[in-house]
Amino acid sequence: MRYINQTAFNLASRAATLLGGMILSLAAQAWELPVGTFQFEPVADKVYVMHGPRSQPNPDNQGFMNNPGLIVGRSGLILVDPGSSLQVGHKILEEVAKISDKPVITVFNSHIHGDHWLGNQSVRQIYPDADIYAHARTITQAQGSEGATWLNLMSRLTEGQTEGTEIVTANKTAQHGDLIVVDGEEFRIHSLLPSHTDTDIMIEHVGSGTIFTGDNCFNLRMGRFDDSSSVSGTITALEYLVEQNFAQVVPGHGPSGSPQEVLMPYLDYLRALREAVAAGLEDELEDYEIKQRILPDFVYLADWSEFDSLFGRNVNKMFLELEAF
Ligand SMILES: [Zn+2]
Repeated sequence: MRYINQTAFNLASRAATLLGGMILSLAAQAWELPVGTFQFEPVADKVYVMHGPRSQPNPDNQGFMNNPGLIVGRSGLILVDPGSSLQVGHKILEEVAKISDKPVITVFNSHIHGDHWLGNQSVRQIYPDADIYAHARTITQAQGSEGATWLNLMSRLTEGQTEGTEIVTANKTAQHGDLIVVDGEEFRIHSLLPSHTDTDIMIEHVGSGTIFTGDNCFNLRMGRFDDSSSVSGTITALEYLVEQNFAQVVPGHGPSGSPQEVLMPYLDYLRALREAVAAGLEDELEDYEIKQRILPDFVYLADWSEFDSLFGRNVNKMFLELEAF
């Protein structure tokens, strides 16, 4: 009896070891970069997100820095923002294949910034019939100088690791209020412009109440505002999103979560920034003086990625907007 028990124990022990080995090997199959290990994680029924690094493009992250989304339909897959290069796109599709062997049939591009859509080329190489949706201005800007700028930027910042990437633009346009039905899954487009850029669409997966905000929202990371953006417009877009009461929020960069966890910290920051810069303008200060004066009120955000590099620029952008108003 004792012997049998021992055998059973040994077998159980061996099974546990084998299982542990399998889990280890499954983990090892995730995409490993010097900055971490990346795989799709469920955020809602049929909805997955691979949360990318929060750093700027660099040789260690190979340019990968966004949050590709995956929705599993009846017979095909829908992707949101398939990454920043041909190479990164291939890696993302390898991870997609671990969730489902169905083909990719539709892609959404949230906006013109190349970290979100230069992976289109990879999708089209493997799934030539996939439809790609974007705002009409994303398509024209990607075909123009903005597309070329992003190709060069990615290659330079990753020290050539994105070489071979080519511009593949969306073939279908999407705008505010559109309801796009793909393979039984409904997607509603929300687009309040200008916000992060003048090209942003936000993609709601209606069935799960998940909103993919693109870069209109960042989580645990500072936002970047280029010449086409509007900080005040972004505040308006975020206030609109809060009113919609979505179940899940997937930001452009940083972890997903509830509206309270994801939308509110960034909205609170931008509102506080606008108020502080407006007070400085009333006191007739220059933007660098305002930055010095208000920095102590914002150091609670110092652990947000890129705080040091972007806070001063955010002050400057807010200053220019309010000054022009
Ligand atoms: Zn962006």
